[in-house]
Amino acid sequence: MPRTPILLVHGGAWAIPDDMVEAHQRGVSNALSAGYAQLQKGASAVDAVEAAVSVLEDDDTFDAGRGSFLTRDGRVQLDALLMDGGSMRAGGVACVERLRNPIQAARLVLDKSPHVYFVGQGAEEFAQQHGMELIDNGELVLEREQRRLEDAQAKERAGLPDLTFAGDDKSPETAAELASHDTVGAVALDAKGNIAAATSTGGTLNKAPGRVGDSSLIGCGCYADNSSAAVSLTGWGEPIMKLVLGKWAVDRVQLGRSPEQVAPDAMAYLHKRLGGHGGIILLAPDGRFGIAHNTPRMAWGICDAQGPRTGIHL
Ligand code: ASP
Repeated sequence: MPRTPILLVHGGAWAIPDDMVEAHQRGVSNALSAGYAQLQKGASAVDAVEAAVSVLEDDDTFDAGRGSFLTRDGRVQLDALLMDGGSMRAGGVACVERLRNPIQAARLVLDKSPHVYFVGQGAEEFAQQHGMELIDNGELVLEREQRRLEDAQAKERAGLPDLTFAGDDKSPETAAELASHDTVGAVALDAKGNIAAATSTGGTLNKAPGRVGDSSLIGCGCYADNSSAAVSLTGWGEPIMKLVLGKWAVDRVQLGRSPEQVAPDAMAYLHKRLGGHGGIILLAPDGRFGIAHNTPRMAWGICDAQGPRTGIHL
């Protein structure tokens, strides 16, 4: 049955400061325009989420692509996943350092490989073999992020607790206030009734090299299946991974719960079970959707027959 296309995007969930709100909303709005243009010309949900997330990766406001948080040793290491709910094909890359748009490498994995997931040098070589340019990691590193890393490491040396990773017993509100979660993602429904999801991240500030978070792991920070829903998450990755929270959410939609209800339930579960914090966008193949966060703010946007809308709170 032909469907009216829908696209939802997010640009992170945390205590986004007032002076960064406009940049977040502009970025989300640009991503909506690029992704929805694909849907309007009849392209697939996969094309739409790839286009939307590419725009967010290119925008250095967000923790994805250039401008991402730095690893402990000052590099950008990127993770991304793309999943097609119609075919259940998926493509993921992690710990890539020489790709401007890891979501495009994830798309190549989805389209061109019998495998689902590539990491590090193997992922970069795969992308290069399929036409992507390899760049110097320094091109992805911003001075702003070098200063942010120095601050984080100075606090670490001063013995101040790392609230992001302090363990499951701290207050999630406190951690959400202090930790930035600017991962980006999109979910879409195309005119043919297929859904897709994409998530891309630079991970967490001061992460150990080689650390992979939830964003690019199937069923954790991203998932799509036409028989349930498409989902993209942002937030503190380790608890989201432990709960396989993306799959948790879409399974509830498959059991008949509404995405509008499941989205806040997922955030409540994350908080209650492991003290986690973050945000979620969730879209069912019938067009019902949910957006929720348990952080002070979340940058989100939606475009459907009524046109584009963006928000910073719900
Ligand atoms: N979830 C991401 C990670 O843990 C971080 C984020 O959403 O900002 O890698």
